[in-house]
Amino acid sequence: MLEIVRIHNELLGTYGDRGNADVLAFRAGLAGIKARIRDIAYTDVIPTTADIYLLGGAEDAAQALSLAAMKKNMALNKAVDKGAVLLAICAGFQIIGTSYVNRDEEQSGLGLLDVRTVPGHRRLVGDISIKSDLFEQPLTGFENHGGVTTLGEGVAPFGRVLVGNGNTGDGAGSLDGAINGNVFGTYLHGPVLARNPQFADLLLERAIGSEITPIHDELAERYAQWRRAATK
Ligand code: GLN
Repeated sequence: MLEIVRIHNELLGTYGDRGNADVLAFRAGLAGIKARIRDIAYTDVIPTTADIYLLGGAEDAAQALSLAAMKKNMALNKAVDKGAVLLAICAGFQIIGTSYVNRDEEQSGLGLLDVRTVPGHRRLVGDISIKSDLFEQPLTGFENHGGVTTLGEGVAPFGRVLVGNGNTGDGAGSLDGAINGNVFGTYLHGPVLARNPQFADLLLERAIGSEITPIHDELAERYAQWRRAATK
């Protein structure tokens, strides 16, 4: 049984990233893999034995509460140490970094990616398209963040911006997100896995440690293609 943990959706649910768990469970089913979603509230202890963990985007205050809850026992770090897959979107990406500045106060993050986030000069909002070396086709999504994120030396970005802002708002050619092993951080909402099914399948493969049976979901493919064509 593949276990997918959706962390603190009551705090990290502002941008609809909860759908990433649903897409993973649905596509796992299409590939013949039994999967279940576990919702973990910020008052719960995060299990360390699941296969895939998901963090979503949030407003600043909710983001700080989620981080404080996770710092109590560092269970997510333990799960990642054991090889679990983690997808962290926007606020989630910021809080798993080394540090981020929230209302003029620097907070240490979970340290799962060597990235730092500070407030930018403007809010970065709109459609985004990136090219990641992990996939043939560009990925699309939307972004809405005030923070700008810089990568530590040697940290691999998730992708390069084709359209939109990404980590720093420096436009086409600049970076989005970061990756380290099975930890993926990105600014793409959408939910990103609904808009980019190839990314969902990669996460499933990372979680089970082998290739999955190819999935033919024509509607998902058509949707991804439509969003790619519309984000140019
Ligand atoms: N509150 C953070 C910011 O504005 C994250 C926003 C988000 O998750 N979309 O940068």
